Amino acid sequence: MQSKNGIPDSRNRTHSDAYPSPPFEHQKQPFPGLAKNMIPVPDHGETSYKGSDRLIGRKALITGGDSGIGRAVAIAFAREGADVAINYLPEEEEDAVEVIALIRAEGCKAVAIPGDIRNEAFCQQLVTQAAQELGGLDLLINNAGRQQFCESIKDLTTEAFDATFKTNVYAMFWITKAALSYLPRGAAIINTASVQAYLPSDNLLDYSQTKAAIVAFTKSLAKQLAPEGIRVNAVAPGPYWTVLQCSGGQPQEKIEKFGASAPLGRPGQPAEIASLYVTFASPESSFTSGQVWCSDGGTGTL
Ligand code: NAD
Ligand code: MG
Repeated sequence: MQSKNGIPDSRNRTHSDAYPSPPFEHQKQPFPGLAKNMIPVPDHGETSYKGSDRLIGRKALITGGDSGIGRAVAIAFAREGADVAINYLPEEEEDAVEVIALIRAEGCKAVAIPGDIRNEAFCQQLVTQAAQELGGLDLLINNAGRQQFCESIKDLTTEAFDATFKTNVYAMFWITKAALSYLPRGAAIINTASVQAYLPSDNLLDYSQTKAAIVAFTKSLAKQLAPEGIRVNAVAPGPYWTVLQCSGGQPQEKIEKFGASAPLGRPGQPAEIASLYVTFASPESSFTSGQVWCSDGGTGTL
C-alpha cells in the first residue's frame, strides 16, 4: 500500500523494491548541503511514518535534526508524542523550518536552536535552552556529524582532522556532559555511530576513527550511567541516502552507485532507520544499554 505521494506507508513497505536504487545523478552540494535539493529528495517519513504513542510526553534534543537521519528521528519522535528541540547549522535553516512545522503539525512542542557544536560554550547553551524551552529533557540524540572524504593521509590537514573530531567526538562529550544536569532516571541517550567504526573506508581516515570513538564512548558511558538509571545506546547506519554524502562525504562517482554494494541493492532512506531510535528511546527497551544496533541493508557488519 502506498500513501498519497507514492511513498510506501511505513507499515506496508516491502523491502528492496520500496525505494530508489542506483544509478543516481551526480549532485555536488557545498557542505553542509540541503536535503531539499537532493535528487531524489530522501524520505524522512514526512508522509510515511505512522506513530503509536510510544514516546508520549518525552522531551528530546536531537542534533543534526534538520536533515537526513536526525530529521527522520525528529519526525518519528513527534509522531510518537514527544516534544522535540533540534540543533543544526545556520546555513540549514531552510531544511530546519520544514522539520519544525512537521513537529508542530503533530501538536508537539518544537524548538529550533541553530549553532555550531564545535564550540563548547555553544554546546552548553544548546542544552540549557533546549531543557528550558521543552520544560525538561529525557532523550538526547547525538546525531550531528561531519564526513569529508580525503584519499590520502598526506592531504588530510590538521584543520580538517580537528573539525571532524570536534563535531563528532568533542561535541558529543560536551553536550552529554551538560545534559546530565537535566536527564532524570529513565532517560536515554542515543548516539549515531556508523559501520565505518567496524569496516573503515580508505578515504574516511578521520571520520572512521570518530565513529569508533562513538562506539567506545557509548559502551563506557552505559556502564557509568547505569546506576543513575540512564541508558546509553548507539545506532550504526550503513549507506543512507542523505545530503552528508553529496556535500563532500563521498566522491561524485560513488554517489552514482551509492548503496549498490548492499545486498538489498540500494541505500536506505532515513525513514527506514528512525524506528531503531524510537525503540532505543522507548521505556519498552528498559533493559537495553551499551548496545550498537546496525542497519546496513543486509551486509551484516555487526
Ligand atoms: P545530514 O547531513 O543530513 O546530517 C548531518 C547533520 O550534522 C547536518 O544536518 C548538520 O546539521 C549537522 N552538523 C554537521 N556539522 C555541524 C556543526 N559543526 N554544528 C552543528 N551541526 C552540525 O547527514 P546524515 O547522514 O543524516 O548524518 C547524520 C549522522 O549519521 C551523522 O553522524 C553521520 O555520520 C551518520 N551516518 C550517516 C550515514 C549515511 O550513509 N548517511 C552512515 C553512517 C553514519
Ligand atoms: Mg542538514
